[in-house]
Amino acid sequence: MLYFDHNATAPLLPEAEAAFLAASREHFANPSSPHRAGARARVELESLRERLADGLRADPADLIFTSGATEGINAVWQHWARTTGAGKPVVLSTIEHPSVVEAAASLFANKVLSAEVTSQGQLNLPVLETLLERKEAGLVAVMAANNETGVLQPWAQVADLCRGHGIPHLCDAVQWIGRMPLDDQAKASIIIGSAHKFGGPKGVGFLRIPASLEGFHAQYGGEQEGGRRAGTENLPAVAGMVAALETTVSRNASERGMRHTWRDQFIARMQRLGARALGAGSDCLWNTVSLIMPHAANIRWINQLGRRGVMVSSGSACATGREGPSSVLSAMGVDAVEARRALRVSSGWNTSEDDWAALADAFEDADNSLRKGTVSTVIDI
Ligand code: PLP
Repeated sequence: MLYFDHNATAPLLPEAEAAFLAASREHFANPSSPHRAGARARVELESLRERLADGLRADPADLIFTSGATEGINAVWQHWARTTGAGKPVVLSTIEHPSVVEAAASLFANKVLSAEVTSQGQLNLPVLETLLERKEAGLVAVMAANNETGVLQPWAQVADLCRGHGIPHLCDAVQWIGRMPLDDQAKASIIIGSAHKFGGPKGVGFLRIPASLEGFHAQYGGEQEGGRRAGTENLPAVAGMVAALETTVSRNASERGMRHTWRDQFIARMQRLGARALGAGSDCLWNTVSLIMPHAANIRWINQLGRRGVMVSSGSACATGREGPSSVLSAMGVDAVEARRALRVSSGWNTSEDDWAALADAFEDADNSLRKGTVSTVIDI
């Protein structure tokens, strides 16, 4: 199988699997139990928190382990709706993930202000600046890298801008973490991460939010996570997540340039087929390509490629099943007809140069089949 859907979820890294299994065996006790096995699990959990903090250049006290990004994002919006930001509008870029958009919409309804992106899928900073100058926003959400297009956002500049206005910045860094350098991440007030996007287990993630923020509760109940997120900690999954982050951070530093080249070579072959790469005028993640195919609906490409053992996606897995073009593509000015021909290809830690070349071969083969199967060379359905 050629798996090109890492932005939906990545296969488990062997290092993460080993850490998960070892922690399941050696630290199965509840870290809150008063006996020695519980105390050992507690020490292990805190040592994992310190290792994660090292990787993120963060303060361990600011890190809360969660069940994934969606939980962390919902908790942040709920906190703002209840406390600091109650009554104030919030600002979201028009390409945020559904977990950010829907959670904000459910709590802030008509108080959600939109910061537009350019046709290349990058936040329009002057638009955000104008919104912030109105001095009314309670929280600003601008992601680090988009999950559908891979376009990198000027999030460090957004963080500086927000700090200048005294407004917190929520940065959904789910697709950035494990792929890009983490030196600047301390700039954003709040960072969200999810392990299964970078080779860790599913159902575990983290939230970096200042320990000094009063009254923050991701979940109510017991006193876990310093009283900020109740519920027994998933120590084996946390161990897998930390091992995955350490592995990807050290590999990516040396491999990023080479992986970018493989992606660009693939794009060149797709352009020869007549496809258009979205966000080509912006800096993108080394792993993601968003394509508008020259003909045939995306579901037909997915089926054709699937028959050749290739897994690609039509866009965000979280938006699959929804009617109409994705909000990300609409925000970039892609019309409904083109959006039906949109495909997302996303690679990861186990993708080789040969895999990219085999992917391009499969696309060319599928293109032949799709063209032969029609009376006209322009196929929209
Ligand atoms: N944010 C982004 C950018 C994502 O791509 C995803 C998952 O697709 C999420 C948030 C939600 O992550 P999780 O599945 O861990 O809740």
